[in-house]
Amino acid sequence: MSETLEQSAGRFDTVLIANRGEIAVRIQRACRELGLKTVAICSEADRQAPYGKTADSFLCIGPSTAAKSYLNQDAILLAARLAGAGAIHPGYGFLSENAAFADAVEKAGLVFIGPTASSIAIMGDKISAKRAMMAAGVPCVPGPDTALPDDPATIERIALEIGYPVIIKAAGGGGGRGMRVVPKADVLHEAIALTREEARKAFGSRSLYMEKFLEHPRHIEIQVICDDHGNAVWLGHRDCSMQRRHQKVVEEAPAPGIAPDIIQPVGLACVQACLQIGYRGVGTFEFLYEDGAFYFIEMNTRLQVEHPVTEMTSGVDIVQAQIRAAQGHVLDLIQGDVTCEGHSFECRINAEDPGTFLPSAGVVTHLALPEGPGIRVDTHIHAGYKVSPYYDSLIAKLIVHAPTRAEAMARMREALAGTEIEGISTNISFLRALFEDGPFAQGETDIHYLEQWLKLRRAA
Ligand code: ADP
Repeated sequence: MSETLEQSAGRFDTVLIANRGEIAVRIQRACRELGLKTVAICSEADRQAPYGKTADSFLCIGPSTAAKSYLNQDAILLAARLAGAGAIHPGYGFLSENAAFADAVEKAGLVFIGPTASSIAIMGDKISAKRAMMAAGVPCVPGPDTALPDDPATIERIALEIGYPVIIKAAGGGGGRGMRVVPKADVLHEAIALTREEARKAFGSRSLYMEKFLEHPRHIEIQVICDDHGNAVWLGHRDCSMQRRHQKVVEEAPAPGIAPDIIQPVGLACVQACLQIGYRGVGTFEFLYEDGAFYFIEMNTRLQVEHPVTEMTSGVDIVQAQIRAAQGHVLDLIQGDVTCEGHSFECRINAEDPGTFLPSAGVVTHLALPEGPGIRVDTHIHAGYKVSPYYDSLIAKLIVHAPTRAEAMARMREALAGTEIEGISTNISFLRALFEDGPFAQGETDIHYLEQWLKLRRAA
């Protein structure tokens, strides 16, 4: 390593984790294993959080409402200064894809554990992301890489050129919101007006774009990791087609039935795109896959909820690699070293009613978690833990790894059978039923499968 790299590496020794829940536990563990000190933060609702007790410092930064705590940039920066943190890890959600926050962190003389503010800004706007991806040779969903104009006649012409059905999407959209499918021309203008209004209210920008609506795609994504020195690798692929309301419920790696010669050029194009935009840290390129072709939809410039399935198959600790990249270290991995061993599934265990999916808050009165070879549980809850109504309902991630997909499914069935959470409602019974389902076991089900399966179950 050259002298300059040596000097720049290891730029911090204390990390403030600007998040909560299972990911706060996961990041804290990675920091400790790297010999770094940690600062945990919490809102008033999270004062009893277990990761507060195991952190080197623990600060309450505001009231329970996320806007006044986990989204309060000034409070987080003040906590970092008070606790002597040299870096901030944003986790996922909250401020993780907020370019202004990344910028404020760097301006405060701290390291943002993630890409630069400009990478976040490019990828945060789905239109500029699409433009950057097209320029890098990444295959995209048919449709222009420019915002829709206001002129109704031009909009109609664009829709005709793409061919119905089309989908209208907010450039600043996220979390499955700000999208509307348009099956035919007579509802086009109404859909545009509704989505524009929604986008303006939810994302502060009325900018929209249009693309082909793919009717039976699978959701397949590629995990990348890059350093500050022009090195980037992709760590294989995941299938996240099991979605409800555009939200992922079960993820797996690798995506079943995808031949290496089909995915290889896509992975390499993602790496190329990272090098072109000077990307740093971890990121995910999300694609729709239909009839043998991949179409880019968006890039997540952060650690993702489903990163563990790739950790299980690649053997790479993605959170540690992300932190080391932020420290300025050279990636200790080349593409030729990356392998994919066996098969992994992740189930998102949510505190919600398994029938209505309404969030369920309350005290966990009894907790039993599965153990054994190839089983991993990422969680922050324990018996006596109070699930608060203020935040996302994710309370645990159940992850399994086995040599084959069939064995991984069997292992997940066992793991789910051994999971007991009482005192609150969870989606465990629904997950158990899903892992008994024939077509899912066969693999290669599309993004609509879960919703259809739920409809049939309700009707039965
Ligand atoms: P978000 O940022 O809100 O998650 P994405 O662009 O990632 O939005 O899309 C979320 C989901 O919406 C996808 O996983 C897919 O289910 C659906 N979707 C998005 N674009 C299309 C499209 N062009 N055709 C069909 N489905 C789509």
